[in-house]
Amino acid sequence: MHILILGGTTEARLLGERLAAGGHRLTMSLAGRTHAPLPMPGQVRIGGFGGPEGLAQYLSAERVDLLVDATHPYAAAMSEHAVQAAVRAGVALIALRRAAWEPVDGDRWTEVAGAQEAVRALGPAARRVFLALGRQEIAPFRDAPQHFYLVRSVEPVDPPLPAADVIYVQARGPFSQENDLALLTTHRVDAIVSKNSGGAAAYGKIAAARQLGIEVIMLRRPALPRVPSVATVDEALALVAHAGAFRGAETKP
Ligand code: NAP
Repeated sequence: MHILILGGTTEARLLGERLAAGGHRLTMSLAGRTHAPLPMPGQVRIGGFGGPEGLAQYLSAERVDLLVDATHPYAAAMSEHAVQAAVRAGVALIALRRAAWEPVDGDRWTEVAGAQEAVRALGPAARRVFLALGRQEIAPFRDAPQHFYLVRSVEPVDPPLPAADVIYVQARGPFSQENDLALLTTHRVDAIVSKNSGGAAAYGKIAAARQLGIEVIMLRRPALPRVPSVATVDEALALVAHAGAFRGAETKP
């Protein structure tokens, strides 16, 4: 089969490696948010398709047999476009979506709808905040320049936050609990703003926050379209095998 993975996550890369090794023709699509992405399996294409119509045209022109939405859980627009394009082009679609983190005993989470609500949740008094967000979500924090910010992102934050006290850390996960514990302690952080990314690679700060009794202001996951979904690479492989068998049955005379 020709399989198109909408990627940007570790799981997308791992699934791609397994599918390419299994003999499928694989194309990996990246949004282009990261300037130096890790090496990817298969053929790589970078940048938007031009909305659902563009993606539908691509699926038909490239004779894609199966579309896999393995985007980040917060890339809701792309997930919605995937559904619309798959219907338009008559291509099967499955989603690989990492399970969300659930709060456990000792966690101090304040769940908010988005970055603007997170700014309000921090309150007016100056705090020491770890912003574990992508550079696209940082902008609303310019409305609260009274806080100290520790900003960790894969890409440099441009434009920088117009606040007096900001430290930027450029780093790519995985991040361990020990390292994040040291980071939070060194910078005397008293609040973390985070997405609920799920998985182990970004969980270090959540576990470290629990250990230190620090509040986590958690951006809720956006609503995603209902499509056949799995949470792990192994489950995705089983679903792909099933889709292949189904397709084979369909095309038999
Ligand atoms: P988005 O809002 O869902 O997507 C915006 C547009 O980017 C899409 O309409 C599409 O453009 C293009 N796009 C997104 N993913 C693509 C892919 N895999 N291949 C080709 N084009 C793609 O997603 P976002 O702007 O990337 O990010 C939204 C949230 O997800 C942010 O919170 C961000 O930090 C987080 N996130 C994203 C990624 C990622 O790799 N995208 C990774 C980690 C975190 P067209 O309409 O032109 O097709």
